Amino acid sequence: MQTVGRFAPSPSGRIHLGNILCCLLAWLSARQKGGRVVLRIEDLDTARCPRRYADQMEEDLRWLGLDWDEGPSVGGPDGPYYQSQRTALYQAALEKLEARGLVYPCFCTRAELHAASAPHRGDGQVVYAGTCRGLTAAEAAERAKRRAPALRLVTPDAAWGFTDGHMGPYAENLARDCGDFLLRRSDGMFAYQLAVVVDDAAMGVTEVVRGADLLDSTPRQLYLYRLLGLTAPAFIHFPLLLAPDGRRLSKRDADAGLDSLRDRLTAAEVLGRLAYLAGFNPAAEPRTAEALLADFRWDRVPKEDIRIPAGLFA
Ligand code: GLU
Repeated sequence: MQTVGRFAPSPSGRIHLGNILCCLLAWLSARQKGGRVVLRIEDLDTARCPRRYADQMEEDLRWLGLDWDEGPSVGGPDGPYYQSQRTALYQAALEKLEARGLVYPCFCTRAELHAASAPHRGDGQVVYAGTCRGLTAAEAAERAKRRAPALRLVTPDAAWGFTDGHMGPYAENLARDCGDFLLRRSDGMFAYQLAVVVDDAAMGVTEVVRGADLLDSTPRQLYLYRLLGLTAPAFIHFPLLLAPDGRRLSKRDADAGLDSLRDRLTAAEVLGRLAYLAGFNPAAEPRTAEALLADFRWDRVPKEDIRIPAGLFA
């Protein structure tokens, strides 16, 4: 079976070194196996992800020499490639889950959620306490007159695990460690967890490469694959890049953004230095994406977070 990898960036700003490493690894991992690459724009949050950022992102990826076979601009059989244009598919998946009696409306406010819930271990979200799970249909209808509900999925009290292609075995008890999670927000926006599963399956993705900050989303996604009767891809999570002072890299780190990097460096310099940090370029020398195919191996990539030495991208 041919490998199908993907880039799935959220265009809420200019891409930074962490996003670039993600696209580089996804590209190398797929291309080295003779695979295809899909670009999908994860712009569910349309207010934060205006189209001009998505267009800029495509231009930046081209500048880096990371190409794709299916996606915006090039087209393909599984489009549209903007999540904001795929809500009918998410709605259909939601209805399947509803038909199985696994979805319920949640009327909790943000303040109520934080008061009643324990923090989730990884992603800053909370483990939902199940407050609205027991509402009767009449109670829910009464509350819906005053407040539009979010929709949550009932999670089982069971370990849900998998073997990550880089990080090894990982499991969570979905009810205890994660809780009934959101499928749709109260403003109608579909949740990332649902959209990413529907799209990766619909686009025939066989290999998901992404940062370790999403490792603990994977059990939730695998549960959705199971419930929806979809075939799950292989998952490969790689360590996060940290700023020189040890903080997690964010869109606020101006020096790490591609706008400022493009002023100072060539694409091969950016990629060569990133590949050096990630263990598959022997020195911080310029290398094109194509040239890196020869040296890339997952077992050279570290498993711990990678701190960017001060001045490396100066
Ligand atoms: N859109 C997500 C992000 O940019 C990535 C989702 C994924 O790779 O599953 O963080």
